[in-house]
Amino acid sequence: MRILVIGSGMAGLTAARRLCAAGHEVTVVDKGRRPGGRMATVTLDDGARADKGAQFFTVRSPEFTAAVEGWLEDGLVHEWCRGFTTADGHPRYVVTEGMADLAMYLTDDVDVCQSVHVDTVRAVDGGWEATWPAGHGGVGGSWHGDAVVITAPVPQAAALLGPGIAVPDIVYEATLSLVVALDGPSAVPDPGGVQLTDDPVWSWVGDNQAKGVSLVDAVTLHTTAEVATSRWDEETAGLTSWLLDSAAPWLGGSAVLDARLHRWRYATPVEPYATRFFEVAPGAYLAGDAFGGPRVEGAYLSGLAVAERIDSAL
Ligand SMILES: Cc1cc2nc3c(=O)[nH]c(=O)nc-3n(C[C@H](O)[C@H](O)[C@H](O)COP(=O)(O)OP(=O)(O)OC[C@H]3O[C@@H](n4cnc5c(N)ncnc54)[C@H](O)[C@@H]3O)c2cc1C
Repeated sequence: MRILVIGSGMAGLTAARRLCAAGHEVTVVDKGRRPGGRMATVTLDDGARADKGAQFFTVRSPEFTAAVEGWLEDGLVHEWCRGFTTADGHPRYVVTEGMADLAMYLTDDVDVCQSVHVDTVRAVDGGWEATWPAGHGGVGGSWHGDAVVITAPVPQAAALLGPGIAVPDIVYEATLSLVVALDGPSAVPDPGGVQLTDDPVWSWVGDNQAKGVSLVDAVTLHTTAEVATSRWDEETAGLTSWLLDSAAPWLGGSAVLDARLHRWRYATPVEPYATRFFEVAPGAYLAGDAFGGPRVEGAYLSGLAVAERIDSAL
């Protein structure tokens, strides 16, 4: 069976690997330059590395436990801590070279094409067709096959399918991510991360050196959804400067060597769908964290579930 997976984030790569293992002919396409989607890592001017999307992951299900045990054995991930302000006993895992490294690892033995921005998905000749225009370093083209799995955030998936195709109504919160390289230690307390619930600007502050991802000092800060929404349209230089001022208490008086802003329009699905994937029509499926739960593990479980559905439908 020829299957196209749109999206090389955790859900797409998990689905693709499972379908490849079952003997299907699978192609993954993604509009980004690198695999990972919201598992994204940036290298700053002084060589600091920092996760700008997902910061760590937790493990609740037996399926994800088995995967994480393999990654631990391979030395790809390590346990960071068991809680932030207070320890709750549940391990928080990080990818030692940064989250994007896990995505790269998952592309092994899978046909993955980056810089492919799909613009339509439609039923044709008893199968499915996807098309994409040239641009952003890629050439235009199309794919035709038996089944398609779309792991883009649901509003983007709906746009690919066009009007008249019913998809679940999933609302997402936005987040602004500020990544800052410093010339000295940050003021983020041990173990190097704080989840903030009543700060007017920030929901998360993390020290990438403390969590073992960067050799030098670098901090990642995420805004609340309210700040992201109210300041979304501001131009980058002014917004970065305002965010840096707001970040000052966490920077420990160290000088800022580099600062990067990223706007996550579809950061977190507010209320995930009731099932782990959605069948749009025979052979076309939506998957991702909107279905499996709003975290790395949820994306993994959704990718696994949709792959098993496609394989068993044969
Ligand atoms: C700021 C932030 C912090 C987070 N923190 C955590 C955390 O600490 N712990 C945790 O467990 N989770 C966290 N998450 C959530 C976690 O990152 C996601 O749940 C998970 O990575 C989603 O994976 P996914 O495969 O469903 O989607 P994505 O990773 O979004 O993958 C979808 C892919 O589809 C591609 N795509 C979209 N449209 C098209 C198109 N038209 N053509 C081609 N490709 C397309 C995108 O480029 C993307 O790569 C965080 C998320 C954000 C944004």
